[in-house]
Amino acid sequence: MNLLLIRLIIFAVLFFAGLKLYRMYREWKLEREDSTQAGSQGGQMVRCAWCQVHLPEDDALRDKGQWFCTADHRDKYLEERKHED
Ligand SMILES: [Zn+2]
Repeated sequence: MNLLLIRLIIFAVLFFAGLKLYRMYREWKLEREDSTQAGSQGGQMVRCAWCQVHLPEDDALRDKGQWFCTADHRDKYLEERKHED
């Protein structure tokens, strides 16, 4: 009877220790994923030179060193620049 109780206590301690370790690991993994996501070059935001809207670099158009949200805004911006010259 005593041996069974000791086994139960050991099992419970191991179980809670494992649970705690698992939770710590999950938090650590989430923190790591957050920091890597923020630091990656994929999710960088750029600003449309015409309408000043912010959008992901992947969805933006690049022309003459400027970013644009659509080809339409790129054309408008370049048209405006042409008049200035
Ligand atoms: Zn735009």
